[in-house]
Amino acid sequence: MRLILLGAPGVGKGTQAQRLATERGIPQISTGEILRDAIKRGTPLGIQAKSFMEAGNLVPDDVVIGIIRDRLSRSDGADGFILDGFPRTVAQAQALDRMLLDSGAGGIDYVVNFEAPNQEIISRLSGRRTCPDCQAVYHVEHAPPRQEGRCDKCGAALVQRTDDKPDTIAARLKVYDQQTSPLIDYYRERGLLRQLDATAPIDSVYRNLRSLVQGTKSR
Ligand code: AMP
Repeated sequence: MRLILLGAPGVGKGTQAQRLATERGIPQISTGEILRDAIKRGTPLGIQAKSFMEAGNLVPDDVVIGIIRDRLSRSDGADGFILDGFPRTVAQAQALDRMLLDSGAGGIDYVVNFEAPNQEIISRLSGRRTCPDCQAVYHVEHAPPRQEGRCDKCGAALVQRTDDKPDTIAARLKVYDQQTSPLIDYYRERGLLRQLDATAPIDSVYRNLRSLVQGTKSR
């Protein structure tokens, strides 16, 4: 199964991708996660990406396309993968099409577009807390950890991402509208788009996501 999860930041793509990837035994590939890890480790990639991310802007296309090219060349994606947060521009989508064509391994099966109103997204992003160690995601009201401020899975202290602060949230939503939402038409025109109501409770979104991709071949 080769899947792209599309949708505004904070709409729940990461949570659902993590669950589906675990169930199917395929990698969840999150460019945001790869970039945050590079920042944490202070690598040249991290140093290059940091200021873009902190301002809520996109990291330049050539940088993220390079990340995906490297990541997809690894053998763990041979049976499929879930892309979460990539592509985010039409240029990235075109580069991905070319990469998959050149690899000869076949194209994307489905692109699932997570839909939710802006107000809901703002509330989710501002209440989101993440585990810096195992990347688990919580929400202070809708999905709180058992012990306040601590990750249920590994016990680490939860953090609020710097780009989940109010000013940056507004910038990220604008970037999404201007640069990423054109991908909805891009994939609709190619017959790959499936719409998903992302406002439902987490378990029900997951059931709907599974049924949308049920017919997808395992590769
Ligand atoms: P995310 O965790 O997907 O919300 O991504 C966090 C931030 O990483 C974004 O706001 C961008 O600054 C950067 N980023 C992640 N994926 C991409 C991408 N495909 N293209 C450009 N920038 C990205």
